[in-house]
Amino acid sequence: MASALGLFGGSFDPVHFGHLRLAAELREAFALERVAFLPAGQPWQRERGTQASGEQRAAMLRLATAGDPGFVVDERELARKGDSYTIDTLEEVRGEVGPDAPLVFLLGSDAFTKIETWHRWESLFDFAHFAVAVRADDADWQSRGPGAIPKSLWPRVSVNRRDLLSVPAGRIMTFSMTPLAISSTAIRDRVAGGSTIRYLTPDPVVGYIQQHSLYGTSA
Ligand code: ATP
Repeated sequence: MASALGLFGGSFDPVHFGHLRLAAELREAFALERVAFLPAGQPWQRERGTQASGEQRAAMLRLATAGDPGFVVDERELARKGDSYTIDTLEEVRGEVGPDAPLVFLLGSDAFTKIETWHRWESLFDFAHFAVAVRADDADWQSRGPGAIPKSLWPRVSVNRRDLLSVPAGRIMTFSMTPLAISSTAIRDRVAGGSTIRYLTPDPVVGYIQQHSLYGTSA
């Protein structure tokens, strides 16, 4: 079986322990050689863009992942001009790793249930598998369960990791991760309100936010 690579896209504004646990648990579950964190250049679905710059979000990711040799930060989307689309990244990475290596795109259930709104979404499955971590704070998933997955994708759902890793792309697997109801929004709100964010994100990230007076205050 070719060794599999994990790709984890997001705004990471800022990165937090929910992201890090997702990456660690899915890396273990799918025996991924490594997980590349891909900070989005210009998240096209967000009305006001991100609050921290691309360079700052990448710097926080580097601080958060420095101690884990299984994690890398891949800044390719930051270098791209214009909107940042996952499909472009998947196409590019597939070109680099060749046709046979399994690629596994990691994401939370809240993000996956909106996949039909992504640019060229049906082509995404030509390039990678999708590993979906059920989020503790995803009310839609908690009430509807796997029914929250768009119906047209049901034939792609796999319940067997070996089956998924035996082909390079095209399958979907859901995964119950340790529930951590942490979000970047809540962290930004706490900083703006002057509350502590320690133990929601690694200490070096807390320090970076303070030093750069990110998210509205120097708290
Ligand atoms: P925001 O609050 O700004 O929307 P976020 O905390 O959801 O941000 P993103 O950078 O948008 O973080 O998320 C990147 C990916 O990580 C998405 O696939 C998202 O579903 C997933 N994710 C974020 N937080 C968690 C969490 N606590 N548990 C599981 N998955 C998460």
